[in-house]
Amino acid sequence: MKIHEYQAKEILKEYGVAVPDGIAATTVEGAVDAAKKMKENGASLFVVKAQIHAGGRGKGRTKKNDAKGVILCKTIDEVKEAAESLLGDVLVTIQTGEEGQLVQTIYVTDGVDIKKEFYVGVLLDRAVSKNVIMASTEGGVEIEKVAEETPEKIIKEWIEPGMGLQVNQARRIAFSLGLEGKALKSCIKFIMALYKAYEETDSDMFEINPLIVTPDDEIFALDAKVTFDGNALYRHPELAELKDEAEEDPAELEASKYDLNYIKLDGNVGCMVNGAGLAMATMDIIKLSGGEPANFLDVGGGANVETVKNGFRIILEDKNVKAILINIFGGIVRCDRVANGVIEAVKDPEIAEKVKNVPIIVRLQGTNAEEAKEIIDNSGMNVISAVLLKEAAEAVSKVMA
Ligand code: GDP
Ligand code: MN
Repeated sequence: MKIHEYQAKEILKEYGVAVPDGIAATTVEGAVDAAKKMKENGASLFVVKAQIHAGGRGKGRTKKNDAKGVILCKTIDEVKEAAESLLGDVLVTIQTGEEGQLVQTIYVTDGVDIKKEFYVGVLLDRAVSKNVIMASTEGGVEIEKVAEETPEKIIKEWIEPGMGLQVNQARRIAFSLGLEGKALKSCIKFIMALYKAYEETDSDMFEINPLIVTPDDEIFALDAKVTFDGNALYRHPELAELKDEAEEDPAELEASKYDLNYIKLDGNVGCMVNGAGLAMATMDIIKLSGGEPANFLDVGGGANVETVKNGFRIILEDKNVKAILINIFGGIVRCDRVANGVIEAVKDPEIAEKVKNVPIIVRLQGTNAEEAKEIIDNSGMNVISAVLLKEAAEAVSKVMA
């Protein structure tokens, strides 16, 4: 689960990570009030930042007003203008895709002078099952680009799970960034606090780009991108509340309400499967038969009428879907029951209308698979049955041809 920059910075602050002061606002008046308050506290430069769940805002532009997603302002009037140009407009960045993202919240922060920009990120290195801290002197730019073009400029420190981050590791990173004196000391403190925040919030990723050094050798996180591990959110109800539903994919949001595991993809063959492993295998089968999976959908253990109906609703919201492959292994749930569930779902008037031109292929294997095939074949509905995976794959190729 992703959160906004201003929320991430509030968390970082609690952990003692230095961030510039700032106030989030959803209206122009709110932004102006924020800037006035900050001015009273001594601020002389402001930055107005669009809050969307995507990076690259500094180089992005809004559709209507052609405004940058990060705007430096010297006066309160400029803050007002910036707020007017951003709120309600759609920001397009390298990470949002062409359709962009509607700006509903902005963050007014204290502008700071930058002497140097760095990159620091904490994430899970799945290849070695350890957290890794990555840092680079090439801050402010896309880290993916640095990793590709000049990988030697990325410093990595892996953290032993049983030991946690050691001060000498944090020191090594800060030192490799070329820091010394006061800045070196602050950076070590910064990295230790950042790692603590990452670990205690059960995050997947905590990325600071840029981490900056001011002319006075102070260190700040100027930007913060956080992704929490969704499977650990039950341990952090206060973090789960930070979810901004406006930023989520509508179909994925609906699926989560039904307790379905759905991820939208770019292809044209929708799939509905019980079990994540089988879902992955089904996506491979779709690809091998010449299609592209339109989604990942694990309906879990109980493939009953309601689950199948909800699955159909979500898959069919995607206009790219040209065919649907249902692949269910009947272990605890018997295939004949699933078959009846599928037929009943397809007879639902709302779904029937939507699947008129979308062939459905159902592959049921396991307990009572033969009965299930009969139920489908005798249903009189436009549903193609298969028992073997190979048959299902052939059916997909045929309807896609
Ligand atoms: P992103 O483009 O979405 O990654 O947004 P960032 O928060 O990283 O901001 C983009 C760029 O704006 C940064 O790399 C900085 O160069 C610049 N920027 C952001 N905040 C400040 C600030 O307080 N002072 C100055 N001088 N530049 C800033
Ligand atoms: Mn950034």
